[in-house]
Amino acid sequence: MASLRTDGVTVVFGGNRALDEAGFEAEAGRITGLIGPNGAGKSTLFDVVSGLRRPQSGTVTLDGHDITRATPAQRARRGMARTFQRLELFGRLTVRDNLLVAAELGARGRNSARTADGILQRIGLTADADTAADALPTGAARLLEVGRALAGRPRVLLLDEPAAGQDADETRRFAALLRDVAAEGCAVVLVEHDMGLVMSVCDQVYVLDLGRIVACGPPADIQQDQTVLAAYLGE
Ligand code: ADP
Ligand code: MG
Repeated sequence: MASLRTDGVTVVFGGNRALDEAGFEAEAGRITGLIGPNGAGKSTLFDVVSGLRRPQSGTVTLDGHDITRATPAQRARRGMARTFQRLELFGRLTVRDNLLVAAELGARGRNSARTADGILQRIGLTADADTAADALPTGAARLLEVGRALAGRPRVLLLDEPAAGQDADETRRFAALLRDVAAEGCAVVLVEHDMGLVMSVCDQVYVLDLGRIVACGPPADIQQDQTVLAAYLGE
C-alpha cells in the first residue's frame, strides 16, 4: 500500500488550473520523482500534500487515512516533513542550532543533541557546525534544510528542488543520503530539475505538465517517453 497518495487533486488560481486532477503515489522505502517544466504545478502539489493549500477537489491519503482536511501540524505529527524551494532556515542560528531546533520539535523523548550531531554527520556539515546558516553556500544550505527535515525522523519526506545550487560532489553525496533515507523505510518524494540526479536515484518518476500527470514509470521508460519529451521540449 502506498504511504502517500493523491487522487484527482485540482487547484485553480483565478482562471488558471495549477493542478488538474493530479494523482500520484509514493511508497515507503522508495524514491518517487516528480518532474515537469517551470509552472507545471510541482510546488503547488507539495503545498496540497503538506496542507498549506486546500484543493478545490481531490484527496490526499497518508497510510490509508484521508488527511485532505488535516492541518500541516497534524500531518507533521503523522510523520510528514518537507523542504521548500525557497529556503526556510534560521539564518542567524548556527548550522547545529538549526538542527537542534528541528530535533527538539520532533524529539518524542529522544536526545536532541545526539540527533543533531548524527544528522550533521549524515549531511556532511560537521565542519560547519558553528557557522551561521546564512553564511553557508547554497548547496550546503540546501543540505541543512534536508537535515532539518530529517531531524523529525519523517516517514514521508517531500523535497522541493533540494539539489539546486549543489556542486557535483554535493549532489553525489546527496544521492547517497537519499538512498539511505529510503532504505530506512521513508517514502521520499523528489521534485528536482537535475535530471541526472532524478534518473539515477528514483524508483518511479511522475511527469507533470500544465497541472496534469502526463506520464509515470521507472526512469528508463520516462527518458524514452514521447509525451515527456514533448512537455519538456515543446515538440
Ligand atoms: P512549479 O513548482 O512546477 O514550477 P508551481 O506549483 O509553483 O509550479 O506553479 C503552478 C502554477 O500555479 C503556475 O502557473 C503558477 O504561476 C501558479 N501559481 C502558483 N502559486 C500561485 C499563487 N499563490 N497564486 C496564483 N498563482 C499561483
Ligand atoms: Mg516549484
